[in-house]
Amino acid sequence: MLMLTVYEYFEEIRRLNPEIRLDIGQPDLPVDERIINAAIKALQAGKTKYTSAYGIPELREVLAEKHHVSVDQIMVTVGGKLPIYAALDLCKKAAVIHPGWPAYEENLKALKKPYQIIHTTFEDSFIPSFDALDSDVDLILTNYPNNPTGITLPRTKMKELVDVCNDYQITLLADEIYSSLTYDDFISFQEFDCEDIIYIGSFSKSFSMTGFRIGYVISNPERIKVFQDFQVHTVTCPVTFAQYAALEALTIEEDVHSHAVAIYSERKKTAEKALRDIGLPFVPCQGAFYLFPHISVASEPFCRALLKKEVSVIPGIFFGDYPHHFRFSLVSDRLEEAVTRMNEVLEKMR
Ligand code: PMP
Repeated sequence: MLMLTVYEYFEEIRRLNPEIRLDIGQPDLPVDERIINAAIKALQAGKTKYTSAYGIPELREVLAEKHHVSVDQIMVTVGGKLPIYAALDLCKKAAVIHPGWPAYEENLKALKKPYQIIHTTFEDSFIPSFDALDSDVDLILTNYPNNPTGITLPRTKMKELVDVCNDYQITLLADEIYSSLTYDDFISFQEFDCEDIIYIGSFSKSFSMTGFRIGYVISNPERIKVFQDFQVHTVTCPVTFAQYAALEALTIEEDVHSHAVAIYSERKKTAEKALRDIGLPFVPCQGAFYLFPHISVASEPFCRALLKKEVSVIPGIFFGDYPHHFRFSLVSDRLEEAVTRMNEVLEKMR
């Protein structure tokens, strides 16, 4: 069992600096020049002071229009991570779907909040069941397109979950920060009649703007006010010039997203074909840029051996009880070569 957190593992990989880095959930595509220029222009124009803790009004307005909500239902945040933390802080007991992004649980542990794990299996294509939900759960965390599996949920499953949330007064957290990177038709939880939803968006993955630290949260105005209190008392406001860059990003959204989707869907095809060729089973990626293949050997020593071959991926154990899976991100043009090296390691280990 790994004693490190995934973040410590990333640090170790960063230090080793392997040739092909497929471990991190960070797009390799550069930030569009128009966005960079907008950031520079904002700095030159003196956009260097604090803003409202809700974010700059112009950005809130454009986001409100995009999501068909009112401005008081939206707040610009320091990445998608901060409002997730604030939401966890408000809950009594959360339900976390596995495999899932490790930060949910790290934060729940730090906040000393109880939580229920909903385990899903490769055999069920990682689709969760909500039949055995604990009666005291008041927040369900969802993340589709999913990190680390790349799956999305079928409409019927989404409707089933929304009904459960409405029937039992459970808040649905919809972390849809990968929603612009989808390869089939994508349905958002925003399309359903969910009575209590916290929607999380971000510029990190969709515009490759991870270092800008701009995200946003949509919920009812009362909760947005609580999140505002949280943000103002911790980080004050999102980075000012980065908010102006995000404003520019939204004006070229279609262009940036179609370019990114074209590149990732080509890579998805390449990686999936290479995995099929070496006989590794996986659930096809429907969104985001992740694959979570199954291997017959233990994935932790596999990942360590692969690292010696200069390819970094992440053991499945970081995402739940998945010792025979590993996650790799489609963030390199050298995916075929990476899969060839995976095969070499597997042949030695079998
Ligand atoms: N949710 C998920 C599922 C993620 O994978 C990440 C980043 N890895 C985040 C939220 C947070 O992203 P950011 O704070 O950069 O917006």
